[in-house]
Amino acid sequence: MPRGAGSPAPWAHGYAVDVQGQPGTDSKGNLTMSSATAASEAGAPASTVGDAPTPEQFELEARSFLDAQASKRPEETLVWGEGSDNVSLFPERTPEQEAHDLAAARSWARAAFDAGFGWITGPTEYGGRGLPREYQSIYNTVVADYKTPSMSVYGIGLGMVAPTILAHAIDEVKRAYLLPMYRGDIVACQLFSEPGAGSDLASLQTRAVLDGDEWVLNGQKVWTSGAQVSDIGEIICRTDPDLPKHRGLTGFVVDMHAPGVEVRPLRQMTGGASFNEVFFTDVRVPDSHRLGEVNGGWTVALTTLMNERAAIGGGGGGVGLPITTRLVEVARAKGRSHDPLIRQQLADIIVNERVARYTNLRAMAKIAAGQLPGPEMSLAKLSLTANMVRAYEVLSSILGPALIAETGAWGTYAWSQFLLGVPGMRIAGGSDEVMRNIIGERVLGLPKDPAPR
Ligand SMILES: Cc1cc2nc3c(=O)[nH]c(=O)nc-3n(C[C@H](O)[C@H](O)[C@H](O)COP(=O)(O)OP(=O)(O)OC[C@H]3O[C@@H](n4cnc5c(N)ncnc54)[C@H](O)[C@@H]3O)c2cc1C
Repeated sequence: MPRGAGSPAPWAHGYAVDVQGQPGTDSKGNLTMSSATAASEAGAPASTVGDAPTPEQFELEARSFLDAQASKRPEETLVWGEGSDNVSLFPERTPEQEAHDLAAARSWARAAFDAGFGWITGPTEYGGRGLPREYQSIYNTVVADYKTPSMSVYGIGLGMVAPTILAHAIDEVKRAYLLPMYRGDIVACQLFSEPGAGSDLASLQTRAVLDGDEWVLNGQKVWTSGAQVSDIGEIICRTDPDLPKHRGLTGFVVDMHAPGVEVRPLRQMTGGASFNEVFFTDVRVPDSHRLGEVNGGWTVALTTLMNERAAIGGGGGGVGLPITTRLVEVARAKGRSHDPLIRQQLADIIVNERVARYTNLRAMAKIAAGQLPGPEMSLAKLSLTANMVRAYEVLSSILGPALIAETGAWGTYAWSQFLLGVPGMRIAGGSDEVMRNIIGERVLGLPKDPAPR
């Protein structure tokens, strides 16, 4: 199975740190930036908060890095029938393409990190640059003008696992993994779901039993995105089967190359295989790699899930501006752009896409203020998937059978990939129904969903 390209890293052969004793109490659970002014440590970017640039200097710095390392992105205009008509929501790559894309992503991530743009807001003591979020926004705006490799392989690691490590791991584990994660040296996955535990995550059965200063893991995870290229995973295990189900769980950072870890790809209905089953047979995890308290895994899982919803809801999931532009172009190309019903449907999609974006921005502002994201994340995710459903409804009206039967025409059957990806988007990161439960209970104050007997 393809692993990370490049030379073997310490974590590829075991745990990067092996710290004795109890975990630290540094589990604040918040996502605020450190104001530390410590000098950069080995491998950390040269410029830190001690010599912080002004926003204007920072922008110039970013532009000069990007001018030297990348080419300008050409103005994206959609000419019907030209270029790629791919609108897949999930990667549909061969292992060879996957290895090629990972190598490109890794080389870009390293260059960006070494130039000081890999972890702009991260605490300096762990390799971040310690700058305010405003600087990240500046970089995002500038980098959008350049053609750079897709960083999607790092999405789960940086969007979900790294914030959880930062919030719940002991200091040595943070030092060992955060910098390599942001530098693109290691890829991480999320090992939560099991055959009998998805929406009801707390029912999970993978066991972790303490043996000396190590935990021994046995069980099976499923739907693990990107496990086939991952170096580490965040796993939630049952550590006390006698406690109520939410209270007997513990989180760990597990080495995906450890003996006893077996990754088996799952073929999705769109053709690709980006998800996996992962089997654990007597896999040993040092106690130092525990996230948070023993039996405190539910809090750890919630940190990750909130960030997951933020990542999905904020990511646009494909129905960002490019997709809406494409939808308008499909209507034009098929002579339906003057049809009042189609126009109404398209306007609805554009309006709702904006609303979802603003909801997500509100949630991001909460994070910036040091709070954990709340039900806004569920709202943003639900808005996104509701818009995807609107998108395929308008596509069905415009394209009819050409949406599901290959006619060879550009920009028509290609949408079937999008159509077949939408159910996955409606399930991943919490299903639509579960999002509605959260909004009903936490926002509208409706009675709680009755627990299963
Ligand atoms: C694209 C994709 C990527 C994924 N990546 C990962 C990953 O990287 N790591 C990982 O751990 N998992 C991953 N998953 C798994 C995902 O988290 C689960 O599929 C999800 O939590 C739902 O669980 P389930 O599949 O067991 O369905 P179930 O929980 O069995 O749900 C079945 C149906 O019942 C409904 N339902 C369940 N409970 C309720 C309720 N209380 N009220 C109303 N309706 C309810 C659901 O909405 C759904 O329609 C991924 C899934 C997808 C689709």
